[in-house]
Amino acid sequence: MPQGSHGYFFSFDKMDYVRGKRPEGCILCAIRDATSGPPDLCVHRDDLFIVTVNLYPYNPGHLLVFPARHLEDLRALSRVEAAHLHDLQAHLLTILDRTHAPSAYNIGYNMGSTAGGSIPHLHLHVIPRFPNETGIADLIAGKRILVEDPRVTAERLRNELGQLPFSKATV
Ligand SMILES: [Zn+2]
Repeated sequence: MPQGSHGYFFSFDKMDYVRGKRPEGCILCAIRDATSGPPDLCVHRDDLFIVTVNLYPYNPGHLLVFPARHLEDLRALSRVEAAHLHDLQAHLLTILDRTHAPSAYNIGYNMGSTAGGSIPHLHLHVIPRFPNETGIADLIAGKRILVEDPRVTAERLRNELGQLPFSKATV
């Protein structure tokens, strides 16, 4: 549910919450500000976090969960943000169970470029795993075939979140 972003971010500024604002070219800050860029694949946004379907999903339902603040290290998350993130990711697993019924999940960060983090803005990957999915050798060989358009994924998740909304933590 997009918020009237100006009032909201203004109040964050007043709280001195946003340090350094938006670095040049940060794609996740751009998604947060919804100014331009990639197709809108957001499925959830609240005061602290935004959830988007990965434009280049490893699997159907591959989500990125990132803080509204431009942080590059998970140690910079406040306690409130960390608790909120935990509740949010737990809720997303419930939603994905309902929409995609995966048999397992990979959940984690690639923090820093050496670890494969191509976007400096801290983001948590939630990757549903399915039996009999394409193996890593096929991925490397470029044989991966998308089995669901990310926009379709986003629509399915939005619908499910509409029926089972995430209840915001108290900020
Ligand atoms: Zn950013």
